Amino acid sequence: MENLLVVSCVSDDVKAPLSMYILRNYKADVIAGVEKYAKEFGAEILYLLPEQEEVDGLNGEIRYTKMSSPTLNNPYAVAQVLSGNLPRPMIQDDYVAIYDEKAVSVITPEAAYGMTKGFDEKFVAINSGEKTEIKKTTVGQSVGEIASVDSAKAVLLGGLKGRFVTGPEASKIKIDETENFSSITIYNEEDCIVDACVQLMNAAYENSCGKCVLCREGTSQFKQIVTEMTTGKAKMSDVDLIKEVSELITIGAYCPFGQHMTRPLTTAMELFAEEFEEHIKKKSCKCGKCYKQAELYYIDPDECIGCGECIDACPEDAIEGKDGFIHIIDQDLCEQCGKCLAACEEGCIKTATKLPKLPKKKTKCGKW
Ligand code: SF4
Ligand code: SF4
Ligand code: SF4
Repeated sequence: MENLLVVSCVSDDVKAPLSMYILRNYKADVIAGVEKYAKEFGAEILYLLPEQEEVDGLNGEIRYTKMSSPTLNNPYAVAQVLSGNLPRPMIQDDYVAIYDEKAVSVITPEAAYGMTKGFDEKFVAINSGEKTEIKKTTVGQSVGEIASVDSAKAVLLGGLKGRFVTGPEASKIKIDETENFSSITIYNEEDCIVDACVQLMNAAYENSCGKCVLCREGTSQFKQIVTEMTTGKAKMSDVDLIKEVSELITIGAYCPFGQHMTRPLTTAMELFAEEFEEHIKKKSCKCGKCYKQAELYYIDPDECIGCGECIDACPEDAIEGKDGFIHIIDQDLCEQCGKCLAACEEGCIKTATKLPKLPKKKTKCGKW
């Protein structure tokens, strides 16, 4: 059977556009590494690039994809994407992925660069606020030598599969082969760690390929629970629930992404237990990020005329009421989308961070 070597430039983690950076800036070294590997295995070469990225002078066929997923360093997942399917991996050692009647193997630009220049050099995407800077480093250097982390509140080493450590701890950690250093994200005192976990769990949910239930449902539930921690709906027992479910996912998820994607959340909960507790118990965020956004929707009982227009507008079926009665929003179901606000011509749907006294039972309009 013929062989196909796919250079996957779409397997980066969140906010770590390493592959395209290395391909653009070290193109000759990457091409040399790709050719070396392809020659060894007698393979044709195909570059899989993100849509709208153009790179001249590549030594093989070029294909584009909208997909981007940590699973796209797996040959089977890559073969699936080339065939127009979801990036679902297969990880048995003896399994041969086939595309176009060719056996597929995968290399990343960083690994191809390593084939030419040696594997001691590493590329790291350093994220701070909205900025991302990519640096070349060598095995043995400490995180503190390549990024200003000493006074950071927290550092996430390794992106979606990574772990949170404190700034001073991160500073001493040496870049080595035992963990993923492809991205280092710095959080300062003004950054809310719970809010950061919401972003990470949203990204984990989007990156789950959906092949196995534990990862698919786990990312969805974690995303929801952590979001509830920022909107006042979570309970302290959710912290234990996350720990328990995350152990199950780590053991049972099919691929390395699923096995590690709960680590950012569990390590953050361990390191910043007080910040999580403050969000859940006191329903407050000292960084001013969370509850500021979490405006709750309610219907002003003094103004509602009971017309029912808002019920039809609500995609969550969160509004209860009948003709001539004061309507009520069920806060457990409301997703704060704001559609009811636009639908109520009387202007009686309002928002507040703390709800006023509202009817608990059916009340006729004008009788409140
Ligand atoms: S663990 Fe997640 S990403 Fe991996 S195969 Fe299962 S669903 Fe896909
Ligand atoms: S804000 Fe959205 S979800 Fe909430 S009650 Fe209004 S329409 Fe329904
Ligand atoms: S909240 Fe507005 S739209 Fe809904 S029943 Fe009352 S008056 Fe009508």
